[in-house]
Amino acid sequence: MTTDLRVSGERLWASLSETARFGAIPGTERGMCRLTLSDEDIAVRHWFVAACREIGMAVTSDRIGTLFARREGSEPGLPPIAIGSHLDTQPTGGRFDGIYGVLAGLEVARTLHDAGIVTRHPIEVIDWTNEEGARFAPAMVASGVFAGVFSLDYALAQEDRDGVSLGEALARSGFAGEQDVGAHPLAAHFELHIEQGPVLEAEQLEIGVVSGVQGIRWFDVVVKGQTCHAGTTPMHLRRDALHAAARLAIAVDDIGRSDPGASLSTIGLFQAYPGSRNTAPGEVRLTVDLRHPDVAGLDRMEAALKNAIAALEASQNVAITLSPVWSSPPVTFDPGVLDAIGGATRRLSYSHRTMLSGAGHDSVYTARVAPTGMIFVPCENGISHNIAESITPADAARGANVLLQAVLDYDRATNI
Ligand SMILES: [Zn+2]
Repeated sequence: MTTDLRVSGERLWASLSETARFGAIPGTERGMCRLTLSDEDIAVRHWFVAACREIGMAVTSDRIGTLFARREGSEPGLPPIAIGSHLDTQPTGGRFDGIYGVLAGLEVARTLHDAGIVTRHPIEVIDWTNEEGARFAPAMVASGVFAGVFSLDYALAQEDRDGVSLGEALARSGFAGEQDVGAHPLAAHFELHIEQGPVLEAEQLEIGVVSGVQGIRWFDVVVKGQTCHAGTTPMHLRRDALHAAARLAIAVDDIGRSDPGASLSTIGLFQAYPGSRNTAPGEVRLTVDLRHPDVAGLDRMEAALKNAIAALEASQNVAITLSPVWSSPPVTFDPGVLDAIGGATRRLSYSHRTMLSGAGHDSVYTARVAPTGMIFVPCENGISHNIAESITPADAARGANVLLQAVLDYDRATNI
């Protein structure tokens, strides 16, 4: 019975450990620097291609270098069920963010291969190019082009700090394919990922069934008052931009606390000018990051921010400009894919909860063009984008078993 089928946790862990040598940061226990299309990324791509070919998978790439490793199904007319994530890392990243999702896909394919199981749909394991955005901004650029969010020309023109474009790095890598980006219908996209947050660990749960990704709005704020002498200007005559900005910071924090469990607000950058001990700042620049699972919530938060700004302009005698910088709408994943993930998790008797992703993933974009869902496993102390990032072999195996069983269920249940 395919419902009894399990991955090899040892083999998956061995793949994670073996590929960590491509970009391991010397002198650290687990730190990784595997920037997109660097020599290290090219090396792990070659490793991945060889491992897939070893079990009879055909590997192709599209014009932005995303790799598709395909295991044929029994019904040739059906589009592939994809298992995708990314093999690139942050400059001081870990060996699980993204990598785990791709190598778990490989482990699912190896398990099917060993058991001699042929699914109805083809199964494709995908390594999306440049998910992290660490070498080339923006993040998730290849899945974004795949989904029609960015043009290919725009993506290939993005340059790293040395002025090397993604297109140039791709040409040098040998991984640029002939296939038009996005000309590749998917029956579904499953992504297994570490949580990158502390919730599962804190609640001592084994699996997160990820129902969507919260929406994000970014703003730049400039508070303008009047620079003045710290010793000669009476308090009641000041137009202190820092003081007004400090009150705004409190208002922003209140906005984040307004809808507990849903709303989040952050000021990540806060700079006062001119920056002198005996001068009251005439200008403060700060950033605001608002997050909420639904658009109505984001609208409420943005309205509250604007109200707070208007009130402070009146009471503090300063001018405040609010400029939208970026916005990412909330994503709701596909009920059919989530059913398959939830059903598999329950059948495997793993403790679990439904949750939202706080971070962006390739699945945010694939959700626009294919039924998509994600699975989370806990990571130690919720730490990610950090050389200390860690998961346990048991958690790694559990997540991959959910992935395997969910893909098999979806394959049986879906005719497109
Ligand atoms: Zn990731």
